[in-house]
Amino acid sequence: MISYEAGAEFAAPEVAPGPRNMRQAVRRGLKGRCPNCGKGHLFRAYLKPVQACSVCGEDISHIQADDGPAWLTILIVGHILVALILTVDGWAGWPMWVSMAFYPSLGMVMCLAGLPLAKGVFIAAIWAGEGADPKLSAQ
Ligand SMILES: [Zn+2]
Repeated sequence: MISYEAGAEFAAPEVAPGPRNMRQAVRRGLKGRCPNCGKGHLFRAYLKPVQACSVCGEDISHIQADDGPAWLTILIVGHILVALILTVDGWAGWPMWVSMAFYPSLGMVMCLAGLPLAKGVFIAAIWAGEGADPKLSAQ
């Protein structure tokens, strides 16, 4: 429960409380931006989310994406990589050692590039989902 002292001044929130726009939040999360205002950064390091937005002050420290981003990244990268291997390997006729060096390296780069995007999407989706149910955001 939050209590306020009489006479204290508070800054008006930049975004009105109410249902949150899932599509807009996910688009902002995909860009690595705050799901609330779209201006502040969502990450302070490669995969470390900020405690709160530096622009609007939205607290996202309680949002845990857990294994969701890794699952989504592997799902997408795996489908792209398998399709690429089946297409290019039959067509190019590379020596086995080239395939054994190229495809795992490509998969690793794609996973490392995709993880922050997936984590931004998950954090933003969880944030937007909390706004739909006031009981969840009160926890
Ligand atoms: Zn913000």
